[in-house]
Amino acid sequence: MKVDVLIIGAGGAGLYAALSAAKETKGLNVAVMSKIYPTRSHTGAAQGGINAALANVDPSDNESAHTFDTIKGSDYLADQKAVKYMCYEAPRIVREMEHMGVPFSRINNGKIAQRPFGGASKDRTCYSADKMGHVMLHTLYEQCLKNEVNFLNEWFFLNIAHDGERVQGVSAINIATGETQFIKAKSVILATGGHSRMYWGYTSNALGCTGDGTAAALRAGVPLKDMEFLQFHPTGLRKSAILVTEAARGEGGHLKNNLGERFMSKYAPSKMELGPRDLVSRSIMQEIREGRGFKDEEGREFVHLDLTHLGAKKIKERLPQIRELAIDFEGIDPIETPIPIKPTAHYAMGGIDTNLKCETNIEGLYAAGESQCVSVHGSNRLGGNSLLDIVVFGHVAGLEAVRYAEGVDFAKGGEEILQKDKKMIEELMNRESKETLGDLRDELGEIMFRHFGVFKNEKEMKEGYAKLKNLIERANKNLGVEDKSKVFNLDLQSTLEFFNLLELADVLAYTSLERKESRGSFYRDDYETRDDENFLYHSMVTKNSDGSFNYEKGKVDISMYEPAERVY
Ligand SMILES: Cc1cc2nc3c(=O)[nH]c(=O)nc-3n(C[C@H](O)[C@H](O)[C@H](O)COP(=O)(O)OP(=O)(O)OC[C@H]3O[C@@H](n4cnc5c(N)ncnc54)[C@H](O)[C@@H]3O)c2cc1C
Repeated sequence: MKVDVLIIGAGGAGLYAALSAAKETKGLNVAVMSKIYPTRSHTGAAQGGINAALANVDPSDNESAHTFDTIKGSDYLADQKAVKYMCYEAPRIVREMEHMGVPFSRINNGKIAQRPFGGASKDRTCYSADKMGHVMLHTLYEQCLKNEVNFLNEWFFLNIAHDGERVQGVSAINIATGETQFIKAKSVILATGGHSRMYWGYTSNALGCTGDGTAAALRAGVPLKDMEFLQFHPTGLRKSAILVTEAARGEGGHLKNNLGERFMSKYAPSKMELGPRDLVSRSIMQEIREGRGFKDEEGREFVHLDLTHLGAKKIKERLPQIRELAIDFEGIDPIETPIPIKPTAHYAMGGIDTNLKCETNIEGLYAAGESQCVSVHGSNRLGGNSLLDIVVFGHVAGLEAVRYAEGVDFAKGGEEILQKDKKMIEELMNRESKETLGDLRDELGEIMFRHFGVFKNEKEMKEGYAKLKNLIERANKNLGVEDKSKVFNLDLQSTLEFFNLLELADVLAYTSLERKESRGSFYRDDYETRDDENFLYHSMVTKNSDGSFNYEKGKVDISMYEPAERVY
């Protein structure tokens, strides 16, 4: 099979890239590959909204304030020119989506409604009730169909083929037939989403957020950037870790401990519940640690997110999905009862290293979306900035990839990759399973949450890393695929996803131990402050053929704002 521009991933990033590529090209073939049906991508789970300084609600808002809030929120690890680019593109791209038909909520004068969000100095988050991602994803998918983008739905991407300089194509499994194929491509965009599923059981992410593209990039020799930075969202449901959007606090929800206190007054006196996510997550865990949390019969610890004072009308109108989730998964109605919540692993700031044009170190290979690290979020992402990031850089990646493809022929070769992948799959299929995937996955989640959670330190992380290494070794020896069939073999797919998670957890653990400071989402008890003198750099990791890592320090662009202390 041959495709001019091949996009892996049909979330917001992949679909926007495809749409921009298809509109730009004068006849090249643009195709999107997705392991699940496009509209089931995790983007569809995004609830709260997308940031753009439209100034519809607060006339004093502007792009410059958005840029500063994002840089401050990132704890000064974001690349400032990249942030500026994103924030100045935001109003244009949000209006473009409005014109495509994205049904935003409105204020009385008919303009797009905007709500306050964590870490933002103005009411800047555009929304569609609490279903922003869902409506964006569906609109983008329809637009792609209208613009003749081709879809390879339910194909599982495996690896990138390149000749040391240029991309040649990819290998992938057609899930419906089980056949492994090589697909030649002039340019490839990786838009495969995040990898928070390594916190199995403690994450807000969909089952498919397993970092397949990020792991493949690492195997292909592309550096991964800032992998130690993984964000915990303050409010996941107690039992399932399913997300309760920040909009619940944006609309006026209160966080309370077992004394009924709004404890955020101690940690973020001016922003209160709307402090940035890293700070609010730590505050909740601190309350629990000091005995002011709640505990249920199963030993789960949590605090309360109280919406009861908002009234039924506002909750039903602005937060209908949150109410449904609380009823279905906690058995409580937030109109009458506070929601039991605890922090949940939510978002990967780190990922595939690219420049502002979304280019990687391999010619013709691009990355966009949560799998990419450009970097606009630094060590802590602000709510509402990811939906923005994925469309802004999805658009850039689409244009760059199509322009590149227009000027070149297909690279020669690449098919060899197929033999390697077929052999790898055959080995997995023939290996006798001595342990089950379910058990190993739970174990991975436990290790990550206990040892690389909201609070970290050297001793805990070293213990955790030893456990992780042992788990990787056991998986390599003891984990095979029990379902031997070809058609829709989800056992095989889940096993491959698990190996990708292990590969990325290894990088996260490694880079976490190297960073001896606290910055943004990355907090260590043993090094409690930010150390700009020694650690104001991007961690860059590549993998050697013996499995060891190369670690380099990438420069951070601080050309606009000098790093300052973060106070909220
Ligand atoms: C519950 C939740 C709520 C959120 N709410 C907000 C919010 O309100 N505002 C905000 O700004 N951000 C929010 N975020 C973050 C934001 O939604 C995500 O970061 C963003 O949607 C990621 O988009 P993406 O296109 O990069 O990846 P995804 O939407 O995750 O899509 C990844 C795509 O890659 C494909 N794929 C992956 N691996 C393979 C493979 N091996 N082979 C083939 N295809 C593959 C998948 O099929 C999928 O189509 C939220 C996240 C979560 C989890």
